[in-house]
Amino acid sequence: MRIVLLGAPGSGKGTQSQRLVERVGIPQISTGDLLREAVARGTELGRQAKEAMDSGRLVEDSLVLGMIRERLGEPDARRGFILDGFPRNLAQAHALDRLLEALKQPLDAVVQLEVDSRELVRRIAGRRSCADCGRVFNLLTSPPSGARAVCPKTGAPHRLMQRPDDNEATVAERLRVYDEKTRPLIDFYRARGLLQVIDAEAAVDEVTARLAQALRVPALRAPKRAAGARRGAAKRARKPAKKKAAATAKRTRASRASPKRRSTRTRRAKAPRAGAVRGARRRKSTRR
Ligand code: AMP
Repeated sequence: MRIVLLGAPGSGKGTQSQRLVERVGIPQISTGDLLREAVARGTELGRQAKEAMDSGRLVEDSLVLGMIRERLGEPDARRGFILDGFPRNLAQAHALDRLLEALKQPLDAVVQLEVDSRELVRRIAGRRSCADCGRVFNLLTSPPSGARAVCPKTGAPHRLMQRPDDNEATVAERLRVYDEKTRPLIDFYRARGLLQVIDAEAAVDEVTARLAQALRVPALRAPKRAAGARRGAAKRARKPAKKKAAATAKRTRASRASPKRRSTRTRRAKAPRAGAVRGARRRKSTRR
């Protein structure tokens, strides 16, 4: 599966990508993460990207495209990928088209996570990521808790840090850049019949469920409410089968006791499975 997640900064692309990684087992390719890594390692690419990143502008297309070409060429991307934060403008979208055409790996879906701008600012203010494993949390919407409170890399509680570009001035510029450069991609992908828009202003689990539904991905770790609802549905679905088996068993016992009274329907019916009869007897004796 080859997916692009579109959405403004703070719309939850990173969080939802990570959840999709767990569900479909394909890599998340985040150009923001790759660039931050390059900056942290002090590579030439990182050095060239840093200024634009610090001020909330887009990094030059040629740098980002070189980086994405290399990443998509890695073996794990052959099974599919989730592109998070790329493409960011029309030139990148056209370049991605050409690249995937050459690789004979067309996109399957583009999902736009729609969130109101006031909510975006609120979410960005609460966003933190672990300095060791890179996992993204939100102190307001998805704080580290339970098993997720422990860093898989260190075995200790996550060391939460705020991104340097999550400050007020830079966030304002990033949102402006998103509207100007990235928003036009919505029409670009809609025209190609690939776009799905989901309301991403709900709770994290609910957005994951909506995303899974849009992509027709079976939910592996279903959100609590949905799991409860599913268990209820399964119970309801099992009930008529139990009743049917008990009724068949009753008819069979009656016909054994008095073979002459066998109805045509019972004669034609297949013999019930031995397990169903035993189960029905057990249930009847417990009821007594
Ligand atoms: P993100 O983590 O996706 O919010 O990206 C953080 C910063 O990295 C952005 O504000 C840009 O400066 C830069 N960046 C990430 N992805 C791209 C991209 N596809 N094209 C240009 N710049 C990018």
